[in-house]
Amino acid sequence: MTLTCLGIEGTAHSFGAALVTNDGTVHSNLWDMLQPDSGGIHPREASQHHAQVGPELISNAITQAGISPEDIDLVAFSQGPGLGPCLRTTATIARALALTLSVPLVGVNHCIAHIEIGRMESNFIDPVTVYVSGGNSQIIAYAGKRYRTFGETLDIAIGNMLDTFGRYVGMPFPAGPRIEIEARQGSEYHTLPYSVKGMDFSYSGMLTAAQRLHDEGTPLPDLCYSIQETGFGMIAEVAERAIAHTGKKELLLTGGVARNERLSQMLAGLAKRHSSRYHRVSPSLAGDQGAMIAWTGILQYEHGNQTAIEESVVIPKWRTDEQEINWRT
Ligand code: AMP
Ligand code: MG
Repeated sequence: MTLTCLGIEGTAHSFGAALVTNDGTVHSNLWDMLQPDSGGIHPREASQHHAQVGPELISNAITQAGISPEDIDLVAFSQGPGLGPCLRTTATIARALALTLSVPLVGVNHCIAHIEIGRMESNFIDPVTVYVSGGNSQIIAYAGKRYRTFGETLDIAIGNMLDTFGRYVGMPFPAGPRIEIEARQGSEYHTLPYSVKGMDFSYSGMLTAAQRLHDEGTPLPDLCYSIQETGFGMIAEVAERAIAHTGKKELLLTGGVARNERLSQMLAGLAKRHSSRYHRVSPSLAGDQGAMIAWTGILQYEHGNQTAIEESVVIPKWRTDEQEINWRT
């Protein structure tokens, strides 16, 4: 029997809506990202953005999927982790829709959704996952019914570091793609703090040092090149150790920073050295979007997991390893 799920994402700057069926087909997947004029994301402004663009975006996603609202069997939403005001606006929209359509509601963990959409696309069974985005940087692997975080950033996420550095040198948000373009012209490596502690890593020292090198007149292409080599090298080191320790034979790259060619190249190389298969999620499924929420919602619902309205309160600090994963054996 076909199950059609509307997935709603809204943990940070992006609001997304998608329709996905339980055969894994993505029928529509739309999102809209708040572009701050200056400075970083303000949680309240982002939540206002979601309230403004949300209804029309959902309506467009339904139209684009070629269905009518009555065909929706299930509403899934990003329950956490994320920015409180954004999560609450998103949850309010999801609850209202589930009640209006008289269909079940499923709260989804945003980080787990990034893993599950990657598993769906790659057909991987049990990968080590590198999840890198504006708000998160984690190396994750499944063990004992949970997605365990084997390593993560101790301070800011890699995407946040790239965006903050980019803003400092006058690039518009998001800066990641522009840094990648600059880096291709760079050749001279300038030393930046390489900070891996056990299985964790950190980016704030590197950010400060990069800003100082910029102030001292280091050419931007060389600096962008050095940031990528150092920042991505740290992720690759931890991912390599995770593959070596767990003995898993699949490596998955997911999250918005997965769009970066150089990072993907490094991870593909290490996967090859360890005779592991490698997959990078396609660009439309890499960043924050509703398809990953819809698909994970379907997995949860098909395994008897739904969220009562009274239990649908948002979880801003929901950790990846807090949820029991009952849809995997
Ligand atoms: P997300 O938080 O998953 O929506 O991803 C957004 C983050 O991905 C932002 O920090 C972007 O700067 C970053 N990003 C997007 N494209 C690239 C790229 N080509 N290289 C590096 N970072 C990127
Ligand atoms: Mg994300």
